[in-house]
Amino acid sequence: MVFDWEYLFSLFSLSDFWLASWTVVQLSIASWLISIVFGFVLALGRQSKYGILNIPAKFYIWLFRSLPLLVLLMFVYNMPLVFPATGDFLSNPFLAGLLAMVLCESAYIAEIHRGGLLSIAKGQGEAAKALGIRFVGAQYLVIIPQAFRVALPALTNELVSIVKLTSLVSVVSLTEILLVGQRLYTQNFLVLETMAAVAIFYVMIVTVFDFLLRFLENALDVTKAKPKQQLSAELIEEISNAPQLKAEKAAEIDGPALEAHKLHKSYNDVEVLGAVDLSVQTGEVVSIIGPSGSGKTTLIRLLNGLEQLDNGEIKLNGNPFIKLLRQVSSKPRVIEHPEHRTEIGMVFQSFNLFPHLSVMDNLLLAPRYHKLAPKKALEMQAYQLLNKVGMLEHAWKYPHQLSGGQQQRIAIARALMMKPSIMLFDEPTSALDPEKVNEVLQVIEDLTKDGITMVIVTHEMNFAFNVSDRIVFMEKGRVVCDESPEALRRGDNPRVEAFLKDVSLSLTE
Ligand code: ADP
Repeated sequence: MVFDWEYLFSLFSLSDFWLASWTVVQLSIASWLISIVFGFVLALGRQSKYGILNIPAKFYIWLFRSLPLLVLLMFVYNMPLVFPATGDFLSNPFLAGLLAMVLCESAYIAEIHRGGLLSIAKGQGEAAKALGIRFVGAQYLVIIPQAFRVALPALTNELVSIVKLTSLVSVVSLTEILLVGQRLYTQNFLVLETMAAVAIFYVMIVTVFDFLLRFLENALDVTKAKPKQQLSAELIEEISNAPQLKAEKAAEIDGPALEAHKLHKSYNDVEVLGAVDLSVQTGEVVSIIGPSGSGKTTLIRLLNGLEQLDNGEIKLNGNPFIKLLRQVSSKPRVIEHPEHRTEIGMVFQSFNLFPHLSVMDNLLLAPRYHKLAPKKALEMQAYQLLNKVGMLEHAWKYPHQLSGGQQQRIAIARALMMKPSIMLFDEPTSALDPEKVNEVLQVIEDLTKDGITMVIVTHEMNFAFNVSDRIVFMEKGRVVCDESPEALRRGDNPRVEAFLKDVSLSLTE
């Protein structure tokens, strides 16, 4: 018996095969896309700290990863025998196949997404939160685009698996490629020739998908991106000639701009902050200094709700912001008024720029999310702020194309876009090379001249003494002293003096 090449080639003009291939393409793409969405919800549930979400998600993933697709297909297709109401939907082999594939694949894809989510630095979600972006917004604007990029190679692999798994749907009589082949060779017994054609159709589909997804992968890879657009000479001139943009000053109010009362925080029953009070007047610049581990970062993160306080109260411009509510009948609860969150801008030690967005889009993300102004006006504001921090010509670059100092200057501009009344800086120069420190300190110093209220955690003692109205010295989770730089220079407090000697600050400056 010889291999019938002529018959094999003739199969490629058979419309049944092409129609079946189209069915496979539709079923694969629909299963893949629905599973990607549902799998993401499962992955979020699996990650959740709430048992009501993570237990069902874990159970689902465990169950549907254990069930063979073929068994699932038979169950789904025969479901109308027990639940006649499902008959309209499930007696259609395509829809029955789709449901079975989605049930099964979403369990696998949930774990792929979880890998993607785990790869995203915690600071990304925190940066979004600090810009007042709520959970769902942070997911679709910041987390999902990055996690999807990480997960894409594994998701591509899953699509290839799905294409091949569609051949199983022939058991519920869906006319896909394998079934067309089987019908042919049961008539003419040319099994090898027919199955070769079936194989070639599958290989063609997988190759096309592979090519398209590789293309998508490259398109999403910002490390290969060129700066999106150049600024025209006229625009640069217009922005440079525009009046210097002043950082927004908070309206004068009675009382402090920020008031923290008896803040407590413990990690694993170890107290890291105990009854800390802090009050910052409008326009005041307060630096927080102290030895490593004294609770400075924890304090500043409590002030904008990035860490949950265990006790105490924070007020912003006279309004309640975060507070621990004690109730007689139930456990104490933290009450937060998130609408005030945008009144506080935060600059992180590790910048936390969004790496998948250009500099300009980093600046525009939060104000556009909050619909602060029309796009054109926001763009002009962003250009002016970039000009203010000396980064105008880098507007359309991506964060990875900038030095640490430049990234931090962009992070400052990004926080200022929200026109906060208070800016918090958490060791803004600690992650920088020594020669980049001054460029960032200079930008912060310029902002202090604009009269913006600031709380700065810093190890740069000369800077703190030069720009601050008050310096708070912390040790072991307590405020040891809260004085003007002049008072500290007089050396009245031996503990502070010893610390400053350690960090070799010349107090005679
Ligand atoms: P500082 O900014 O003054 O260096 P931190 O506020 O970072 O101090 O830390 C204060 C203490 O709290 C340290 O002992 C640190 O180990 C502890 N700490 C900070 N964050 C956590 C955390 N998420 N889990 C457990 N311990 C923490």
